[in-house]
Amino acid sequence: MIDELTVCRGGCHCGAVRFEIDLPARVQAFHCNCSICRACGFVHVFVARKQFRLLAGADELTEYRFHTRTAKHLFCRICGIKSFYVPRSHPDGFSINLNCLELSERIEVQMGEFDGRHWSRSIAALQSQTDERHPR
Ligand SMILES: [Zn+2]
Repeated sequence: MIDELTVCRGGCHCGAVRFEIDLPARVQAFHCNCSICRACGFVHVFVARKQFRLLAGADELTEYRFHTRTAKHLFCRICGIKSFYVPRSHPDGFSINLNCLELSERIEVQMGEFDGRHWSRSIAALQSQTDERHPR
């Protein structure tokens, strides 16, 4: 059965970067223990590209890349907040920062853990949990 999707808005702290995403009624979010997620407190909600629409702030986004340089870490250049980015784990989609979302009360969030510190041995499990055909 296909979930009915709810539109949720989010963005950075200063309001320059705004987006909306389509979320199912039950959302799986992930803490990650890798160096950058620990440092900025990012909590992942993975969405497909078609579920994401940038509403404002394209010109305010600054990109940071490191290590394999696959992930595009996107920060608001005014307030420094990373509200979403293109993750190495899901390069065809986006990871949204749960902490930057205005969540509808209709949406239930389940928390999970991603061992991003040991990325190569954790990635298969994460990708199977976030498979687009089985959004959970
Ligand atoms: Zn900002």
